[in-house]
Amino acid sequence: MLVVKKFGGSSVADNERIMNVARRCLEDYRKGHQVVVVLSAMGKTTDGLIAKAHEIDPNPPKRELDMLLVTGEQVSVSLMAMAFHSLGVPAVSLNGVQVPMQTTSAYGTAKLKRIRTERIRNELESRKIVIVTGFQGINRYEDMTTLGRGGSDTTAVALAAALHADVCEIYTDVEGVYTADPRIVPHARKLKEVSYDEMLEFASVGAKVLHNRSVEMAKKYGVRMVVLSSLTRAEGTVVKEGAKMERMLVSGVAADKNTARISVIGVKNEPGIAFKIFNMLARNHINVDIIIQSVGREDRKDISFTVARTDLQEAMTLLNENQAAITAQKITCEEGVAKVSIIGAGMLSNPGVAAKMFEALYSGNINIKMIATSEIRITVLIDEEDANRAVRMVHDAFELAD
Ligand code: ASP
Ligand code: MG
Repeated sequence: MLVVKKFGGSSVADNERIMNVARRCLEDYRKGHQVVVVLSAMGKTTDGLIAKAHEIDPNPPKRELDMLLVTGEQVSVSLMAMAFHSLGVPAVSLNGVQVPMQTTSAYGTAKLKRIRTERIRNELESRKIVIVTGFQGINRYEDMTTLGRGGSDTTAVALAAALHADVCEIYTDVEGVYTADPRIVPHARKLKEVSYDEMLEFASVGAKVLHNRSVEMAKKYGVRMVVLSSLTRAEGTVVKEGAKMERMLVSGVAADKNTARISVIGVKNEPGIAFKIFNMLARNHINVDIIIQSVGREDRKDISFTVARTDLQEAMTLLNENQAAITAQKITCEEGVAKVSIIGAGMLSNPGVAAKMFEALYSGNINIKMIATSEIRITVLIDEEDANRAVRMVHDAFELAD
């Protein structure tokens, strides 16, 4: 069997944890499996490096920032190789250039294009544990690149796909994917399995367990992923294709507080206005989520939508600068809002799921400001101060606890 095991920053935060990870990997190795380990930088190393860069240059060249950030992962892989050496086990660490992991040229947001596997395969054949830097690669200018924050998950899945691994295990500081954030709902239940699509929806509403692109890639190549804790022995959550026959209507509830609402009021009721607004935002890389357009009155209508709160200022500046072009009479915004979503492949074939969610919110006297749906997700926008209570009420209504 070939296993790819990825450990995040908190799992390799200090020497003790590094030794702990090494010992755990040895269990698989001693069973005769081939073991590839993918690591993130130790603890908050990447944050620290970014802060250092900005102290010297508030707007550092992206190439140089990547040169800096790739060092974080090199520290953890080399120390991990030493940990194996100290335990008397042959191991080798490889960075993104040595593998090599070929990427597109966009520094800071590079995408993996091709992974050459000969070197890794040779090392595995000679019974070494192979430890690979997450998050990095090399572009066609032979410069080092990074895949975007949290990108080590994607490295691990890509390697698992390229090596046809039997499983890609993602170790983190939680024990898996839960029906809700256990800090908000203490009796939330750990899910045994979720589908790729559900996992993507979880990620899109702010449940930050996995890097989104890693799930997309796992889905594309059919890589079996397991999310589990590096600190306990608990069984994790399996992410895979397809659903059980008798699955729950809803798999989980999540809240996303990084949300703000913008209303563009009194725009002309004519073709092209929505295009102008959203094209302008898209060109500036501002993601828009829930969109609602009012029924026109006379020759005017309103368009409201949500953006990440971290993008609000930039979005408002853009809209205000272009108020005349988009024919708006007024532009308003609201920050104290949150999205609450239910996710579940079981929704596909079951009517009444939305009604049940709304009933739960009504019984808590929680007002819904906006609603959006996908095939397997229903999202409402509510006041932020109601968000945690809403998650608990909806979680109870669908009886998601044990
Ligand atoms: N070290 C990188 C980060 O902090 C990549 C990762 O951890 O996945 O974003
Ligand atoms: Mg991560």
